[in-house]
Amino acid sequence: MQDLGGKPVIVRTYEATKATKLFDEVYVVTDSDIIFNEIELNGGKAIMSKKEHDCGSDRIAEAVEHMDVDIIVNVQGDEPFTSKLGLEQVLAVFNGADADKIDLASLMTEIYDWKEISDPNAVKVVVDKNNFAQYFSRSPIPYPRDKNVSVQYYKHKGIYAFRKEALMDFHKLPMRALEAAEKIECIRYLEYGKNIKMAINNNEGIEIDTPEDLIRANRALKESSTTAVNNKYRNFPMVPKVIFGQGSFDQLPSILADKRKEQAPFIYLVDDVFKKNEAFLDKLTLRFNDKLLFVSTLEEPKTEQVDTIVKNIKNEFTYLPSGIIGIGGGSVLDLAKAVSLLLTNKGSAADYQGWDLLSNKGVYHVGIPTISGTGAEVSRTAILTGPEKKLGLNSDFTPYDQVVLDPDLTQGVPKNQWFFTGMDCFIHCVESLNGTFLNAFSESYGEKAYDLCKEIFLTENLSDAESRAKLMMASWHGGMSIAYSQVGVAHAMSYGLSYVLGTKHGVGNCIVFDHLHEYYPKDVALFKEMVKMHNITIPQNVCSNLTEDQMETMIDIALSLVPLWENALGDDWENIMTRDKLKELYLKM
Ligand code: NAD
Ligand code: ZN
Repeated sequence: MQDLGGKPVIVRTYEATKATKLFDEVYVVTDSDIIFNEIELNGGKAIMSKKEHDCGSDRIAEAVEHMDVDIIVNVQGDEPFTSKLGLEQVLAVFNGADADKIDLASLMTEIYDWKEISDPNAVKVVVDKNNFAQYFSRSPIPYPRDKNVSVQYYKHKGIYAFRKEALMDFHKLPMRALEAAEKIECIRYLEYGKNIKMAINNNEGIEIDTPEDLIRANRALKESSTTAVNNKYRNFPMVPKVIFGQGSFDQLPSILADKRKEQAPFIYLVDDVFKKNEAFLDKLTLRFNDKLLFVSTLEEPKTEQVDTIVKNIKNEFTYLPSGIIGIGGGSVLDLAKAVSLLLTNKGSAADYQGWDLLSNKGVYHVGIPTISGTGAEVSRTAILTGPEKKLGLNSDFTPYDQVVLDPDLTQGVPKNQWFFTGMDCFIHCVESLNGTFLNAFSESYGEKAYDLCKEIFLTENLSDAESRAKLMMASWHGGMSIAYSQVGVAHAMSYGLSYVLGTKHGVGNCIVFDHLHEYYPKDVALFKEMVKMHNITIPQNVCSNLTEDQMETMIDIALSLVPLWENALGDDWENIMTRDKLKELYLKM
């Protein structure tokens, strides 16, 4: 009944569970009149149980005894931050291949800190190779006699999903000594030979067991309401180390030297355009078991591709890599960030497309751009195409730990590609500078990059080397500018093109921007001048042969990018950018 952000904890837990829409029914089972009344008064459903029960499972067993149900999930009343993902995971266990062997399912979290591993308040669990629980304990299990064997420790999380028979059985079985000694209720199942399947969930929600937890929870609630996507204040990370200048790439071995962990390789992900470039390959000094992987950029990076690379690395090496080094354009830079993150976060990259979904820091990662414009070298996102959407892994863990900016590396870029990727930078600036999220921070970076772009693409007084160095810095500043604001109309629409037609980001932006005089009149005119000056052909009529379904998907993808529209058109964007309006624009392109 304690207050959590204006509502009792139990009401918050009830509402959060209901809001997942995963259950046919949600009840609070309680022996307290006060809790019962509170839930009913708030329009919820509660069930009174008798007072004396040894544990929550017994209480729930009493409540469901005469209900016609197959699976019952026990969410503890003091877990208001229970995530939908976690609940989906315990339910999914009953659809797996070994479902008929499973009596109940529960969750566990990877833990690394010895303080937590040895804390008796954190219940540890060991599992077999199929994630069936073998034992739960308040002691550290296993005992790390050989410190060189790397084992994963798991902490048990108090969410259970039962088959009804298993729950009813439990109710009747007397407590045995192991459970009594550890005071851990699920040990009773193991003592009676039941099978508990564990799913891994690394989303750390706060559990409220003590008054201090409640204070932390109230604080977290306040913070989460101010870290929304387009909040007023952002506390975002920046690349902590960057080296710049012609020839700076040669410094890489000395930069990496003290990051190397014994036996753990560095993995280089390199654009395959460098496959035959001897001069470049000579400079890559691979040591010990370091590995070089060439990446094709025929298509932009996909979640699946990230998953495969991560799986292969994990299969080949016993130890997590010392570092991931991405060398290439936006495609490879984003891929390398994603690989670094997925090495330490379980599941598929597709699970993390969105804002702040990753829970663990990635492996040390270094970004080395070989073409300028995307700003992927500074940004807080790694854009991927997944099974359902094209969206980045946006998180504080995403930015590179180290960036090497050597303008010499961009020497071989073909002219068209130079233009398209360069225009990504120009369009980042235009969208940031004309957006409603703009503030002095974004503006200062945006204006600098915008001026550099005009100098590079509209004057003839720069040498090649100067132009390459300046574009590299424009890319960086353009990326910094959108860190505190957002992109806009061209990017939202370009994502739609790219999802449905596979159009590359840079070209897609140009195809779209060419027709956006209604939104960015002055800058579309400048853009057309640049196109003319460099004799670039922008593809036309790319949407003329779309099926109705493709057009609808394209519109869905574009409209799903809410923060981009809010930035471009303000709070009222939905009335301005209707489906019809988007279709009309797409048909012009
Ligand atoms: P890219 O990485 O796909 O590279 C474009 C082409 O240039 C490729 O064919 C590549 O082989 C070639 N290339 C790169 N360096 C070269 C060199 N030195 N010499 C010769 N050829 C070279 O394209 P891009 O425009 O840099 O990046 C696009 C990607 O970046 C997209 O996937 C997009 O989603 C992403 N992006 C990410 C962010 C971010 O903040 N993370 C921002 C914008 C775009
Ligand atoms: Zn872009």
